[in-house]
Amino acid sequence: MPRVSAVHVLRCGRVRVRPQNLQRGRSPELWWTATSRRWSAWLPVNVVLVVHEEGVLLFDTGQSPRSLAEPDYYPGRRTGGLLGAVVGWAFRRQAQFEVPPTDTLVSRLAEVGLSPADVDTVVLSHLHQDHAGNLDVVPGARVLLAPEELALLSEPHPELHGVLPGAVVPHDADLQPLSWSALPSPLGPGGPGEDPAFTAGHDLYGDGTLVALPTPGHSPGSVSLLVRRPDGPPLLLVGDLTYDCDRLERGALPGTGDAATQEASSRAVLRLRESEPGLVVVPAHDATATTGLDLKKS
Ligand SMILES: [Zn+2]
Repeated sequence: MPRVSAVHVLRCGRVRVRPQNLQRGRSPELWWTATSRRWSAWLPVNVVLVVHEEGVLLFDTGQSPRSLAEPDYYPGRRTGGLLGAVVGWAFRRQAQFEVPPTDTLVSRLAEVGLSPADVDTVVLSHLHQDHAGNLDVVPGARVLLAPEELALLSEPHPELHGVLPGAVVPHDADLQPLSWSALPSPLGPGGPGEDPAFTAGHDLYGDGTLVALPTPGHSPGSVSLLVRRPDGPPLLLVGDLTYDCDRLERGALPGTGDAATQEASSRAVLRLRESEPGLVVVPAHDATATTGLDLKKS
């Protein structure tokens, strides 16, 4: 049996954002958050399921239907005072979500013959609610995330990073920090005089098939996951590093996050692709990314 025997893209909700979020422009985030009148097309919220010999893994968990049903899911004046009111306003201005019954994590898992109890491990690209939103659906899973992202939960105001611990992180969640250690050999071209793309990462099962890599910028602890399959090109699941590969190649950065860090991570991913022929980059909100995977689509 191959170490990785199946990969499925599960569409767990959909989102539309401001054009300035898809691609960074000249106006500051606060300005376009307040003034933008346009929305993007509806985009998927992609969760990727990997069946590995050691267990079933999810990269991200998608948007929760609770976000549409619970009035206090997002911060507001009643729950968070003035700061809550401002953060809640920013959430509502920047993105809109839908989670039809077909798009719940439970429904999507059932489509591939699995139940939440089958999920052993979750790797989070980051803690935003459209990525970590369904942790409550898989209470038995260990949840791996970057130590830099985990640290946000200890800050006085995680909501200033777009993180809503009360709504997203169950109090008994088994959160475990990824540990960044030197890879046996650097990933990337690394010719004479060239910087390798990645020198540190976390090889989940020690076999090189699933390697978490630090790609900060969108959030302080954003993570990508390299997936090596026996029957197709390798995949790099990049979360919100970019909205689509075309923008990644053009160096067009998304509108939220630290631009310089986003740019460095984007360059590292492009360098990695030079040394991994056929590497398929899979952004979390790219509708077309799944068409190149030769995988079962959801
Ligand atoms: Zn995000």
